[in-house]
Amino acid sequence: MIGRTARCHCGALEVACQGEPRKVSLCHCRQCQRRTGSAFSVAAFFMREQVSVRGPTASFARPSASGFDVDFHFCPTCGSNLLWYPARLPALVGVAFGGFADPDFPMPEQAVWAEEGHDWVGLPEEVARHARNPKPKA
Ligand SMILES: [Zn+2]
Ligand SMILES: [Zn+2]
Repeated sequence: MIGRTARCHCGALEVACQGEPRKVSLCHCRQCQRRTGSAFSVAAFFMREQVSVRGPTASFARPSASGFDVDFHFCPTCGSNLLWYPARLPALVGVAFGGFADPDFPMPEQAVWAEEGHDWVGLPEEVARHARNPKPKA
């Protein structure tokens, strides 16, 4: 089974992920812009049992547009936000796509909150585009 490790930029925090992500999702929302300092975020969602966290984390929880909290965990030394736990999808953990720094990592299958995105961001046609967040599959 393939194993990949996401790391913060100081290296103190690692998230080891076994197997393929359940979903890779790009988010254009303004909260993700602020969280990442970038134009959009990309999340690799794994089942919680696929993921093991090594190293210290600090956390920050906030409500999402769905009304459920998301609990963001980041490296207390360098601040990289490497993983998050969405209360709306309790079986899953989001891992920061950029933490893998892997050009072969599977590309996003969907882009959400396109209505809050920047006009200059163009994506391949095969990425499903949603104005907001689609309802999670039961
Ligand atoms: Zn760090
Ligand atoms: Zn977002």
